[in-house]
Amino acid sequence: MLQYAVDVLKVKHVIVCGHYGCGGIKAALSKQRPDLVIVNKWLKHIKDVYRLKRQELDGCETEQDKLNRLVELNTIEQVHNLTGTSIIQNAWKNDKAPVLHGWVYDVRDGLLRELVTLDAAYPIDPIYQYDLE
Ligand SMILES: [Zn+2]
Repeated sequence: MLQYAVDVLKVKHVIVCGHYGCGGIKAALSKQRPDLVIVNKWLKHIKDVYRLKRQELDGCETEQDKLNRLVELNTIEQVHNLTGTSIIQNAWKNDKAPVLHGWVYDVRDGLLRELVTLDAAYPIDPIYQYDLE
C-alpha cells in the first residue's frame, strides 16, 4: 500500500494520523486476551512505544494526560518508523519526496494538530539506513 502510493502514484505527502480517546491505545496499557493474535500484534507496537517513553509517560499528572501523550508519541514513532523503510529511503534519495506528517485529531474540537514533519533532508539514524544503489 505504502509502496504503491509512493512508487507508482508518487504521492507528495504521507500522513499518519492518531486520535485522542483511542481505544487501541487504552487497550495496549492493559493485559490482553491471548487468543486475539492479530490485535495483540498491533498492540505490541504501542506497548513498545510505552516502554521506550516510559519515563516521560509515567511522569504525566493524570491517567488521561498519559493516554493523550501516548497517542501523540505513538503517532510520532510511526512516522519515524516510515523513515526506516526502504520505500521511503529510496523515494527520498530519488525524488526528494514525499514529506511525512504526524498529526493528531481531537474529536472534542474537530481540529487536527501537527506533531512532526519529516522530509528528505531528515538525517536518518545510520542504524536504520539501507545500502541504496
Ligand atoms: Zn483509535
